[in-house]
Amino acid sequence: MPHRPMSREQQWLLPPSLDEVVPADHPARFVAEFIDALDRDSWADMGIDLDGDPLGAPAYHPRALLSVWVYGFMTGVRSSRKLEAACREQLPYLWLTGCQTPDHITLWRFYAAHRAGMRHLFTRTVRTAMAMQLVDLAVQAVDGTKVGANVAGARTYDAAGLRRLLGRVERAIDELEAQHAAGDGPAAARLPAALADRRRLQAQVRAAVDTLQAPAAPKQINLTDPDARLMKTRRGLRPAYNAQAMVAPVERRGDGSGRLITAVAVVDAPGDAAQLEPMLAHAEAATGGPADLTLADAGYHSGAALAACARRGQRVAMPEAQARALQQPYHKDRFTYDAASDSYRCPAGQRLRFTRRKRTRGVPMRLYRVSGAVCRACPAFGICTTDGRHGRGLEIGPHEAVLRRHRAWMATREAQHAYQQRQHLVEPVFGIIKAQLRARRFLLRGLANVKAEWALLATAFNLRTLWRLWRAPPTKPDRWDAAMTTAGAPA
Ligand code: SF4
Repeated sequence: MPHRPMSREQQWLLPPSLDEVVPADHPARFVAEFIDALDRDSWADMGIDLDGDPLGAPAYHPRALLSVWVYGFMTGVRSSRKLEAACREQLPYLWLTGCQTPDHITLWRFYAAHRAGMRHLFTRTVRTAMAMQLVDLAVQAVDGTKVGANVAGARTYDAAGLRRLLGRVERAIDELEAQHAAGDGPAAARLPAALADRRRLQAQVRAAVDTLQAPAAPKQINLTDPDARLMKTRRGLRPAYNAQAMVAPVERRGDGSGRLITAVAVVDAPGDAAQLEPMLAHAEAATGGPADLTLADAGYHSGAALAACARRGQRVAMPEAQARALQQPYHKDRFTYDAASDSYRCPAGQRLRFTRRKRTRGVPMRLYRVSGAVCRACPAFGICTTDGRHGRGLEIGPHEAVLRRHRAWMATREAQHAYQQRQHLVEPVFGIIKAQLRARRFLLRGLANVKAEWALLATAFNLRTLWRLWRAPPTKPDRWDAAMTTAGAPA
């Protein structure tokens, strides 16, 4: 087979334009269309001045800089230095910027100044999907994933560790100050670098000690990122954040399907239990209405969460962590409540009467008991209870009724069938964000900054979903322009 002629010195009479070499269905074009559809109010919401300053040297247009960041997040490029290189070398970036090449400092300053406001873009992706009727809100699923903090785990200390570190630093400072004072030459205008470093560390450690002494403070703190917490991850106990996402299926007949993130949050607590109601509220605000059914894993289960869902009128399919205990013949649920006498009847027909109020892990409880003598005489003694002195006790919390109702519903085939969708709906989203968008750890530090980073990652994920549908041949007249333009209106 003959070789094709090839020359690197080829001169073009009519050189191809960038517009010709970027395919019509390229994701960069979708990003540009999405950014170009932003109205003045949207730019103002993000705190970006679209008109620029009449004085001084011309600055890069915010549309170019925002497009670069959004397209970078979509393709797993989140570092300003890598984006600078991409703007010089990669055709989609050159097309997005109109062949301009902002350096990493310009890119970073733009991102640092506006990253919190960029959350507006996330809401806009959700509203674009709603305007295109891609999400019907029949079902949604919530979950959390641990995303590593951008710190070394070795810099995490408890109170005792901080005291030991402080002692070492203060001894080092004393030695350096003694050497500094014993020097023969004239006093230097600045402290030696080693001494300045130790003093900085001393101030950092003292601030960390104060933080750990505050009420409800964590048991450990990381000196590099004091907001990060030690959390159980697949790689062991690491400083991390708990990143939450609510996900709804996206379906367009004949044009493909996918998933859309409808709400995001990042918290510094490892547990998910308190996150269900805020996530429901965020999703409702973004989509403009509640979903018919929400799926959540056992980590979100609590009486308070179920009561909040009941107040909001939202159905939730969510198993309990202690599901095996429910099978026991003398589980609390086998005791029936009699409102007239405010007492419970046990499986053996004995009455447990209200004894007193108490608090268990801060939750107010009502304690019901039957006498020890009655239980000792019962054939179930040793199985139902081993407390022969006080007899069986039942601790009833404020959400007992809603817990029992939910347990009964979760036992139905309908609830179990619905719950099976959860894993396939939400977990692939975290897989894509971590593997394809390369976000196994945050690049920024501090809770406020990682919140902005997570929101932009969710924006990038949603744009990938929307782009796949945008480029697919439509089965009916396309309304993308109108959807992207009207997405700025309140839902
Ligand atoms: S052990 Fe006590 S509470 Fe349990 S079934 Fe027997 S009588 Fe009822």
